[in-house]
Amino acid sequence: MALSLSIEKLLKNVKKSLAIVFRPSRKLRLKNIDLLRTLINATSCCSRCGLLYGEPREGASTSVKGICHICGQEALLKDTRHYAYLRKGVKKLSDSVRH
Ligand SMILES: [Zn+2]
Repeated sequence: MALSLSIEKLLKNVKKSLAIVFRPSRKLRLKNIDLLRTLINATSCCSRCGLLYGEPREGASTSVKGICHICGQEALLKDTRHYAYLRKGVKKLSDSVRH
């Protein structure tokens, strides 16, 4: 029983990876557009998202506990200003969305 379950899981994963390889799909593109919109609209974010999509700036900054505008997790948030307005991520995503 456990074996058949794990095979099923494996097949599912294989299918998933095949889908990614063979269809750089509309779905992914829509997801990127969504993320792009989120990055543009975000006014504050957690340090994980800030480092992922932006570049940290030197200098003092205040952190407030709250829900990250990007990943939705509760964390210490900073203004996106402190991550150069997430321009790195915005640029990368707009490039990937534009064909
Ligand atoms: Zn986040």
